[in-house]
Amino acid sequence: MDTDEILDLYQWSEGVCFRHPGRGTVDTTVVKRLHPRLDGEHEIRACRDCVLAMETIREQAARRAGSEYIPGHAGEALG
Ligand SMILES: [Zn+2]
Repeated sequence: MDTDEILDLYQWSEGVCFRHPGRGTVDTTVVKRLHPRLDGEHEIRACRDCVLAMETIREQAARRAGSEYIPGHAGEALG
């Protein structure tokens, strides 16, 4: 699976990447939703670079664990 196919698994919209706030508004996707007590819902958005980096982490972790790597769940790399 190439990087374009992985990126196609996500829905992209404008936002601020949680690791690159200095880049301003870029193409991002929601990788995680947090539910802080008393504070509604907080979306963690990541840019394409970060999604691919997280997918790489997950792929390597799956290989080490001998489990199947299923792309499209980058947020799981955040624990
Ligand atoms: Zn980023």
